[in-house]
Amino acid sequence: MTYDSENIFAKILRGDIPCDKVYEDDHVLAFRDIAPQAPVHILVIPKGAYMTFENFSANASAEEIVAFHRAVAKIVKDENLAEKGFRSIANSGDFGGQEVPHFHLHLLGGEKLGPMLP
Ligand code: AMP
Repeated sequence: MTYDSENIFAKILRGDIPCDKVYEDDHVLAFRDIAPQAPVHILVIPKGAYMTFENFSANASAEEIVAFHRAVAKIVKDENLAEKGFRSIANSGDFGGQEVPHFHLHLLGGEKLGPMLP
């Protein structure tokens, strides 16, 4: 499978469509989900063209991987998610229910979440 550069997050990264940005650095962009499933619902994405979590983990540089995780930690702190807790989800592929084929980590919080798989 090859990366589809017309996916919606690639368009956001190019600035072709807007997003509600919460964080950006050289390697990472984070923005609010357009259809939030919790009071706080943020998507964290690498700027590189990685389709899935395992694709990112296998192929991204150490610098990109560190930047991604540090960004997650900063966003969790800035959004006050750490104290009461939150959930992070990365859907991968068809069985994982991934809709947008650019790796993204969902950060969900702001209220007590239900069971992991309803
Ligand atoms: P997934 O099913 O894991 O691929 O999640 C894709 C997520 O992207 C969904 O939660 C959508 O609501 C969200 N989404 C789709 N388009 C946009 C957009 N333009 N801006 C922000 N979030 C989006």
